[in-house]
Amino acid sequence: MARTDYVTLLERIRDKLSDDSHKEVARLELPTVDVMWEGQKTFLRNFAEFPKVLRREPDKILQYLAKEFAVPAERLGEKAMFAGKRDPDDFTRLFQIYLHDYVVCPTCQSPDTRVTKENRISFLVCEACGAKSTLKGKYA
Ligand SMILES: [Zn+2]
Repeated sequence: MARTDYVTLLERIRDKLSDDSHKEVARLELPTVDVMWEGQKTFLRNFAEFPKVLRREPDKILQYLAKEFAVPAERLGEKAMFAGKRDPDDFTRLFQIYLHDYVVCPTCQSPDTRVTKENRISFLVCEACGAKSTLKGKYA
């Protein structure tokens, strides 16, 4: 009887652990945007954190932001510089759209995806469910 309880307890712990780790995989927390203004320039001080979390090329993400803001942008080490003044919310909004358009699997919503190119067409391949979807944009 005691042994059964012990096994049940172990199973319960194991279930709980696998539940938690599953949630961890399915969720992606974007870093908080850290912005600094200097004259008519905006510096995204923690730019380098975003490509790491999103697992996409920093240059592509920079090009994406520059295109959406319609201003020149430049990478300066960990930072990125944008012409004009931008609010942190502007960056947050764009990163959320980028996440939706270029990272999250449309089939299962997992952010564990990678990009592959075939005949110059980019596909999003999901590491969670295996789905392969066409990417509409060119910033991945
Ligand atoms: Zn998927």
